[in-house]
Amino acid sequence: MKFISANLDNLKKLYIDQLQHLHSAETQITKALPKMIEKASDPQLKQVLQTHLQETQGHVARLEQILQNSKGEVDSKKSKGMAALIAEGEDIITDASDEAVRDAGIIAAAQKVEHYEIAAYGTVRTFAEILGLDHDADLLDTTLEEEKHADVVLTQISDSANTRADKAA
Ligand code: FE
Ligand code: ZN
Repeated sequence: MKFISANLDNLKKLYIDQLQHLHSAETQITKALPKMIEKASDPQLKQVLQTHLQETQGHVARLEQILQNSKGEVDSKKSKGMAALIAEGEDIITDASDEAVRDAGIIAAAQKVEHYEIAAYGTVRTFAEILGLDHDADLLDTTLEEEKHADVVLTQISDSANTRADKAA
């Protein structure tokens, strides 16, 4: 019994740690998305990113709610993984001299961010289920579905964006 509760305690700590990293990641995304929206040319791409910016603000709020309930500090960890993905995206935006190519690059960068989030939310949702934190699991699943949806929509608009980029001189 002692062994099991020690394990649960460790998993709980890992869970909080991962939530703190996700909070950092989402906060970084709320700062990066406005720049991506500004640099995007296709109005549809701008709209998709704008919608996801609003959803992302909700993701930050959900994480703060969950962390508060678990007495986990906010702003105590930095997601180096997300910082690197955003830095790569900024490089694409800087380097792409053609606007259609830049749009295709913005979609590429955004989808890497979504896949990071899909992996991370899948993990913490599963941790929450194992820890018996059903309300947390529901909140995290709601966010996970929004991340998956954003990825699907980006794939849909990449079709025409990539075609336009292919026609660039
Ligand atoms: Fe998110
Ligand atoms: Zn996202």
